[in-house]
Order: sequence, then structure tokens, then C-alpha cells
Amino acid sequence: MTETAPPRHFIQRRIEEDLARNTYQGKVLTRFPPEPNGYLHIGHVKAICLSFSMADQYNGQCILRFDDTNPIKEEQEYVDAIQEDVHWLGFQWCQLTYTSDQFERLYQLAIELIKQGLAYVCSLSADEIRHYRGTLEQPGTDSPFRNRTIDENLDLFSRMQQGEFTEGQHVLRAKIDMTAGNINLRDPVIYRILHAHHHRTGDRWHIYPMYDFSHGLTDALEGITHSLCTLEFQDHRPLYDWFNQQLLPEPLPQQIEFSRLNITHTVMSKRKLKLLVDEQHVAGWNDPRMPTISGLRRRGFTAAALRKFCNMIGISKSDSIIDMSVLEECVRTDLNETADRAMCVIDPIKVTITNYPADQTEQLTAPNHPQQTERGQRELPFTRELYIERNDFMEDPPSKFHRLKPGGEVKLRYAYVIKCIDVIKNQAGDIVELRCEYDPDTLGKKPEGRKVKGIIHWVSATQHHAATVRTYDRLFQVENPTASDDWQATLNDLNPKSLQVHHNCYVEPALKQAQNEQRFQFERLGYFVVDRYDSSAEHLIFNRIVALRDTWQK
Ligand code: ATP
Ligand code: MG
Repeated sequence: MTETAPPRHFIQRRIEEDLARNTYQGKVLTRFPPEPNGYLHIGHVKAICLSFSMADQYNGQCILRFDDTNPIKEEQEYVDAIQEDVHWLGFQWCQLTYTSDQFERLYQLAIELIKQGLAYVCSLSADEIRHYRGTLEQPGTDSPFRNRTIDENLDLFSRMQQGEFTEGQHVLRAKIDMTAGNINLRDPVIYRILHAHHHRTGDRWHIYPMYDFSHGLTDALEGITHSLCTLEFQDHRPLYDWFNQQLLPEPLPQQIEFSRLNITHTVMSKRKLKLLVDEQHVAGWNDPRMPTISGLRRRGFTAAALRKFCNMIGISKSDSIIDMSVLEECVRTDLNETADRAMCVIDPIKVTITNYPADQTEQLTAPNHPQQTERGQRELPFTRELYIERNDFMEDPPSKFHRLKPGGEVKLRYAYVIKCIDVIKNQAGDIVELRCEYDPDTLGKKPEGRKVKGIIHWVSATQHHAATVRTYDRLFQVENPTASDDWQATLNDLNPKSLQVHHNCYVEPALKQAQNEQRFQFERLGYFVVDRYDSSAEHLIFNRIVALRDTWQK
């Protein structure tokens, strides 16, 4: 990646220590381990950038691993989408793996643990297990099945796998310490019975490993050195180390935690994002209002801007919530450099230039980018009839209004100064047309003897393309829609104006060539992208990425 490195953080220092001590023979192998139960979101981008960039910085590699231990929630659609998203972000994994690739070895390791007298089959119900586990204040109580013999445990565990029992009838638990201060160590469940079809292993397994058992062991089996995850796993780290130490040789991987990314005005958990999709509050996982990678991409955000954002917010151990405007500003900064300029009228009103010949077209020119002349120019047809933005005209404006008004002048961007001489209304009193005169002596120069303050954008009314423009805004109107855990309350905070569709828009003819996913700055309006799915050469559809300035009302 070309972005500048952020200042060294605690994870970099830890890796450097390991390199200095030669803990892993100079090797750095990280992994990004999503569960394929939904699409990735901007929070995952932070984890992806971290794990891939740590590998990159220390000449290491990063594995993309699907943590597919829960067959009920996992689907191939998600597996495919996750790969596409990570690639699009600009990262290349050294290997694609699945936790399910290790199911056989994990099963053998569980048997090994039983043989060591460190695991037992427990036949308490889920409720009973919870009850026996105790609380933060109270130690747990041993399960009555804790002292089953090794042979009995081996027999029951093998029959669990053969499908002899019903779900919930037995579980396999690690035998650690029912009085441990850390509740995670009170004989955690490591295998449960699930008679479910798995997207890769089919019907082979009737038992599936739990996260705490499978994750660290899979890290070790794959040769991971630094296993980076979010802070909620901190209290699970003793367990991560315990299984590895009982079962596998040194050097063992180490889990290092960092804080989650939270962003205002959105929700950020796959479960909630899936509810938004399933209940049709949005048009799908890739709806441009979603904080998913595919949604942000469709909205027009660039991979470079997302990477830069993650670099900027840095890595720490303290949770924080970042304002959406910070992410949007990264996008603006990137697009200001990289997007061509163009003109689009979203809410048109017709202007007729009465002193301009009806049969005349002048091909004016405009730079594709005002600061980057090497990007060339485009032709802009100027004709007698034009469209300007309805709100760039006011019949009875306040004194500070510098755009068009009756008797007033305004400069048309890259063209002439025009003066409004007449306002035409329909029977209902709505303005339908503005009659203007142009000053032929104002092309590329200031008008003589007077100041014209306003400059507005325009499109020829006879040479243009029709387009649909969708303007997007924050999905939720409050900063923290999940402040309460009540889903209905969360839904009440949806922003009713998060999507507005404008059908009768006009863009300049040069945009006929626009490719899907190409981004533009529409002068004075903001940054827009050609929708990657819905737009076609016959009918262009643009999504607003961001406005030119942060306009969100706090
Ligand atoms: P969610 O809670 O949104 O469902 P998850 O943590 O269950 O996410 P996983 O697929 O298990 O999602 O996560 C893969 C990796 O991404 C994990 O290592 C996790 O720590 C990391 N991750 C998930 N959400 C965030 C976030 N908001 N910020 C940073 N990293 C995250
Ligand atoms: Mg998860």
C-alpha cells in the first residue's frame, strides 16, 4: 500500500519484539477470520487493514480464513461477497482457508484433551450449565458429570459425532476451574451437537466446535504468529492460550486485542445489518446507505479513502465512536484529487437566452480538473435554451443572494454572463421559464464596468443526457441509534430522508461516455458515482457520494 504509515502502535512494537527475539524464526503470519454469516462492514475494514498491513510491513503474509463453525447461519453468498470485498479494498491473501478444513484435526485434539483428563462430556441442559456456572460474585459448582471416566467420555464423544443423540443432550466441556474469577474458564463448552448441513462439509459432522476451542487451535495449526482481534475477546485470551498450551508445540500464536471501530449515525453489527435487509428498511446488503463494504463501494466511496480513514483513526485499546463526517472527509479529500469535474442540473428550470440565435451551438470547453491540466478538456455545448438549478433563481431574494434574480446578472460556469429580463409563470403561478440576455463579451473574461458575484452551473436544454440522481444521506438521524438495545426504538431513529430520487436531471453530453463506478464532481453539488448495477448507457443513474461540504445539521 502506498499510504504513509501511522506512528508505531503497541501491535507493531510487539511484532518488533518478537522479530528481535526470533520467537517465530523471523516469520509474521496474520489472519483475517470473518464468519461468513453476513457482509463485511466498515468495522471489518479496520481489522482487515490492520492484519494485512502488519503482514505487509514486516515482510509477512496474511491468510483469509472463513470461520465457518456455525452451519446454521453461514452461506456461500457471504463467502463470495467477503472475498470480493477484501480484494476490492486492495488486499491479497496468501492463502484462503476455512476453519472447517481443520474439523478432523480439531476433533482429534478434543479426543487428546479427553485422554489427558482435561475434557468431559456433560449432560446438563443449557439452562443447568448456565446455573452451575455461577456469577461474577459467586463461584460456579462442578457439574455432576465432571468425573466421568476417560473411557466413558471417549465413548460418549464418539457417539455424539456419530449422530446418536439429539441436540443439547450432551456437550463436551474443558475441565478447567469452576471457581475461576474469569467465568470463561469455568469449564467452557467446546463441542455441541448440531444436526445441520454445513456449506462445505455437508452432513459429515454432527458436532461442531465452539469459537474458544477452534479459533486459537486453528491459528496454531495454520502457523499464525499474531492473531489480531477486537477487545471483546480479551477475557477469552487465557482460554486461547490454555488450549494451545495443552495440545500444541511452541512457538504458539499470540492473541492481541485492539478496540473496535464504531461510527455515528449507523449500526455496525452483522446481526442488525441483516435485520435492516430482511425487514426491507434498505434495498439490500449493498444499498448505498449501508456501512457494508459493498454498500460503501456502491455509494462511490473509494478503497483508497477507506484505507486512509483506517490509517488516520489509528490503533488503540480504548473504544471510541468516530463521527461519520470524518469518514466522509477522507472520501472528499480523495475524490477532490481523483474525480473529473462535470455539470449536472438536478432540479431544472429552463432559461431562454433571447439574444442568442436559435440555430447556433458553440462548443465551449472546460477542464476536466481545474488543478490538473494533464487530464484534458471536454466540450460543453452552449445553446439558446439551457437548464439551471431551480434554487439558483429567486424572484424576491434577500440582499446577500448572488445568484440569478429579476434584473440581476450571474455568470454561467465556463460560459457567459446572463441577465434575467423576464419570469414566465404558468396558470398556477409556478415559474416555468426564465428569459435572459447574454453578454457576448464575457466568455473567459470579467464583464466591463460591473461586478458579477455569482457563478452557477448549467446544462444545454437541447444537447444533454437525461439522468436519475439519487441523493443519499445518513441512514440514522441520531448519532448512536443503538444506545438502547430495543430494535423498534432503533428503527424509529431511521432517517426518513436518507434517500431522495430525482428523476428529471440533465447532465452534459460528455458524460455519455461515463462508465459504471466512474466518479465525478458535479460542480457545486458534490461527488457522484455512476451506479454500478442500475445505470446504463441509455439511462444514466448517479448516486451522490458526499456533498461538497459537511451539511449535516447537528
Ligand atoms: P459483528 O459483531 O459485526 O457481527 P463479528 O465480530 O461477529 O462482527 P466476525 O466475522 O467474527 O464479525 O469478525 C471478523 C473480524 O473482524 C474479527 O477479528 C473481529 O474482531 C473484527 N471486527 C468485527 N467488527 C469490528 C469492528 N467494528 N471494528 C474492528 N474490527 C472488527
Ligand atoms: Mg462474530
